[in-house]
Amino acid sequence: MRERIREILSKKPSDDILTVEGWVRTKRDSKNVCFLEINDGSCLKGIQAVVDKASFSNNNLLDSITTGAAVVARGRLVESLGGNQAVELETSGIEIVGPCPQDYPLQKKRHTVEFLREKAHLRARTNLFGAVTRVRNTMSYAIHSFFQENGFIYVNTPLITASDCEGAGEQFQVTTLDIENPPRLKDGSIDYSKDFFGRMAKLTVSGQLDGETYAMAMKNIYTFGPTFRAENSNTTRHLAEFWMVEPEMAFCDLEGDMEVAESFLKYVFKKVLDERSEDMAFFDSFVQKGVVGTLEHVITSPFEHMTYTEAIKRLEKENDRFEFPVHWGSDIQSEHERYLTEEIAKRPVIVTDYPKEIKAFYMMLNEDGRTVRGMDVLAPRLGEIIGGSEREWRLDILENRMKELGLKPEDYWWYLDLRRYGSVPHAGFGLGFERAVQYVTGMGNIRDVIPYPRYVKSAEF
Ligand code: ATP
Ligand code: MN
Repeated sequence: MRERIREILSKKPSDDILTVEGWVRTKRDSKNVCFLEINDGSCLKGIQAVVDKASFSNNNLLDSITTGAAVVARGRLVESLGGNQAVELETSGIEIVGPCPQDYPLQKKRHTVEFLREKAHLRARTNLFGAVTRVRNTMSYAIHSFFQENGFIYVNTPLITASDCEGAGEQFQVTTLDIENPPRLKDGSIDYSKDFFGRMAKLTVSGQLDGETYAMAMKNIYTFGPTFRAENSNTTRHLAEFWMVEPEMAFCDLEGDMEVAESFLKYVFKKVLDERSEDMAFFDSFVQKGVVGTLEHVITSPFEHMTYTEAIKRLEKENDRFEFPVHWGSDIQSEHERYLTEEIAKRPVIVTDYPKEIKAFYMMLNEDGRTVRGMDVLAPRLGEIIGGSEREWRLDILENRMKELGLKPEDYWWYLDLRRYGSVPHAGFGLGFERAVQYVTGMGNIRDVIPYPRYVKSAEF
């Protein structure tokens, strides 16, 4: 494998002839010299290749090097005279591998993220999307290292499922039936026994239920994979296809769950600050002022804790400022999440013990009979980034909850088996990976932190 520009830039000047491969970001010409900035995605700043025109026989070649062209340059690494970089390439040879005509959409000016979304196949070649891509990569790796270092087993749960985790809609259907002429039963309804799986199947909205079965054997597990929700919501925080991280721990209660969630987030944030300082400085200057300081503060201070009931009390005092005033029993919506984190706590807040009516059937019922052992981690700017809970591990109570909600226990027979055979208290959570990337980078729209966003009316590329 040939060295990338990042490694080359960390070297000392020497007489060795080095080879630089990459794409031309900018070209500046003067009478005697030509400056090329070559980038290969390995770091924010590319390398400056300086070409002395006098010593170059083929000036036609230089003329045909344009922004976007793929080139291989050779030369010595020398100390740079300009102030912007320590070293530069004193170019002795250059070759155009892939020329780039003038209609290349990424010319040297700042493009809007909306424009770049329409050029998503090229946007990784910009400073902004290069930085997002590197930070996302570092976060993925940090997620795996956190869990691997702490004794969690990585489990891959299925993406196609016939059970509906939340007991609610918003799922994409998976079928091989002829949708124009599906087989029908006598009563006119569709005969799913003729479908590929012999029953109706969907794309998963969460790997949790399957994850729980593995935690009941392996103690601590995590999943990290794609999740799908047919959410018809045009927000800056929702995608139809996103990545979710879901740890699940046996012999663990809500307190243990919250401790893991907090140390997990801090670990991931710290890795990004340590390993991507150049990219983070870029986000701080051009995307979200102060984002580095905020992350440093988050890493070193404990998260705020609040029960749902306390949160509602605080919010009720401010009801006239909200579009949706709250009372005990109402859902905490985005505007309230922002108020709690940005105005009251000024840092992430973990809200616990929600009314059972607004949470999923599998959350452990508190002794009061009205609230459940759920927790959401709310972050300034974004609202919810983690949703988790201690799971109801008592068979009779779980069955009652399901019946109350109109779910059929027989549809969940294998899930209920976990409560029959060696059941233990257990807990877990789900982190929306893109929300975490948004939080770290300060990017305003979730569509810009995943390579090819899927959302309502959009599945291009
Ligand atoms: P929200 O209220 O923000 O829609 P949720 O209550 O539906 O979130 P959960 O079902 O608890 O979320 O999912 C776990 C995590 O997955 C959330 O905390 C969030 O970070 C993330 N998430 C949920 N829906 C989406 C989505 N459509 N796109 C991206 N991330 C999502
Ligand atoms: Mn949702």
